[in-house]
Amino acid sequence: MSLEVQCFNCNGKFTLEHSDPQYAKIKTKQTKYYVCKSCNSSIKGEAIKQTGFDPKLLDPKGYDKLVP
Ligand SMILES: [Zn+2]
Repeated sequence: MSLEVQCFNCNGKFTLEHSDPQYAKIKTKQTKYYVCKSCNSSIKGEAIKQTGFDPKLLDPKGYDKLVP
């Protein structure tokens, strides 16, 4: 099973595989925002400065741990 998601930041369409850590979160509605991997890495440094948007708010449990 997979899930179609849209990146909250770039609006790109992605398919989450069942094995993806974000899959369960979206599926169980723990979060309604998906941020793709490339945005996730670029958003960290810039978003806080430019928009005041803190990516930690998306995942207070620490999305960082899921990204190598
Ligand atoms: Zn994106």
